[in-house]
Amino acid sequence: MDFEFTDKSKELQKRVRDFMDQHIYPIEDEYNTYVEENLWKEYPGMEALKEKARSQGLWNLFLPKDYGDLSPGLTNLEYAPLAQEMGKVPWASEVFNCSAPDTGNMEVLSKYGNAEQQAEWLTPLQEGKIRSAFLMTEPRVASSDATNIETSIVRDGDEYVINGRKWWSSGVMHPRCNVYIVMGKTDPGAQRHEQQSMVIVPADTPGVKVLRPLSVFGTFDPPHGHCEVDLKDVRVPVSNLLLGEGRGFEIAQGRLGPGRIHHCMRLIGMATRALELMCQRSAEREAFGRLIKDFSSVRQEIAISRCEIEQARLLTLSAADKIDQHGIKGAKDLIAMIKIVAPKMVCDVTDRAIQIHGGMGVCSDTPLAGFYAGARTLRLADGPDEVHMYQLGRNTVKQVLAARAESV
Ligand SMILES: Cc1cc2nc3c(=O)[nH]c(=O)nc-3n(C[C@H](O)[C@H](O)[C@H](O)COP(=O)(O)OP(=O)(O)OC[C@H]3O[C@@H](n4cnc5c(N)ncnc54)[C@H](O)[C@@H]3O)c2cc1C
Repeated sequence: MDFEFTDKSKELQKRVRDFMDQHIYPIEDEYNTYVEENLWKEYPGMEALKEKARSQGLWNLFLPKDYGDLSPGLTNLEYAPLAQEMGKVPWASEVFNCSAPDTGNMEVLSKYGNAEQQAEWLTPLQEGKIRSAFLMTEPRVASSDATNIETSIVRDGDEYVINGRKWWSSGVMHPRCNVYIVMGKTDPGAQRHEQQSMVIVPADTPGVKVLRPLSVFGTFDPPHGHCEVDLKDVRVPVSNLLLGEGRGFEIAQGRLGPGRIHHCMRLIGMATRALELMCQRSAEREAFGRLIKDFSSVRQEIAISRCEIEQARLLTLSAADKIDQHGIKGAKDLIAMIKIVAPKMVCDVTDRAIQIHGGMGVCSDTPLAGFYAGARTLRLADGPDEVHMYQLGRNTVKQVLAARAESV
């Protein structure tokens, strides 16, 4: 396997790194303070940053197709190191129009949306004019098993009527979040994986009520937030259905493949930055007559962190390459592997970085506490670790038995 990056990817890596150095790191603290103080308001400099990134061709880098000035059309392997750079600052991806949940929603609309749906919702998303949310998880049922979803989508003439309660709907509080993709059941009597459908719901549709933003380890993750949302007799035209009735599960599978791997790419960047901070801090501070970096236990923490990051990085690249070569289905085991490995690895690396920073590590003077919270939630979001292990374990046994049967 050759993970040498193409010239196109190398050149973009340099440009993203330069952009981060010139425009993102210098305002990182200012941004964080603004959104903490103003919660659901967009940072006033965000639009100018987006414009700058777009004018430099650093826009929609995750989109696999070449959309002219809207995307350079990179493979997943070419995109991976760019997402890694962006991941070093949790909000930076938005500047390049590469942030979740918009990336996943854009992929859904471009893969499964029709021309009208794309003109109305995909184009403004690709242009970064609006933002979006994905409403699948529900408070009343174990949503790691998506077949449990209870929200009802009932056809009434030319409209669908939606009733249900969602939570952990990321992005809903963002002032530009204009559209939701909602998963529910159109036919509870159908086969287990054919009961679900997905519909497009404009955020201002009557009957949509945002009940509350949920806190994550005590903060609200502004300005996008994660919300509990009530859907009461919400009516949308039947033309808002994506792909077809009963095909929601299929869309969910297609959506989560690249989405999961994008998260993992950003996580590798986060861990890399935690390691950099760990090295810098330990080289500056002295205890018991020597620099902290010179304690053997600290060197071990740094060394093991580097090993774990590199292991996860190579696994992520392998998954990205497999998607490029064999599609999401062919890469499903590697996608599961990296989703199991990357968030846990970042939790471990960040935990060590926090420890080496002493008290400073848990406050907001460094990004480490935020990294830890973000990585910890990703052991749940997009499917808890156990669900991926459950499926990967099942596939592994099947494959081993099939290989044995073939060799006999
Ligand atoms: C910060 C954050 C953002 C999120 N954003 C979104 C979003 O934008 N849209 C959205 O729809 N959802 C979102 N989610 C929800 C997330 O995807 C769900 O929380 C996740 O799928 C788990 O569902 P649940 O919370 O209902 O847990 P449950 O299904 O109740 O599961 C609870 C626990 O049971 C155990 N478990 C479940 N299945 C198995 C198994 N097969 N084997 C062993 N143990 C098992 C696991 O420990 C699991 O964590 C987000 C969550 C968080 C925390």
